[in-house]
Amino acid sequence: MKGVAVMSFSRGPKEPVPEVDTNVWSCTSEDCSGWMRESYSFEEEPECPLCKSSMKQEVRVLPELK
Ligand SMILES: [Zn+2]
Repeated sequence: MKGVAVMSFSRGPKEPVPEVDTNVWSCTSEDCSGWMRESYSFEEEPECPLCKSSMKQEVRVLPELK
């Protein structure tokens, strides 16, 4: 009897990274595209690292971090 049910756990090395809704801080200055992941900021109200403006919370779809 031949085995037909082969369990395959290897799906290849190049799985696409899933994109997930991610909380980010986004610069409030319209001339600036600065933003950072919320999980990378250590302050409750961070300021923009580029222009020092205040930042607002936003949700972006970004590649999932592992
Ligand atoms: Zn900025």
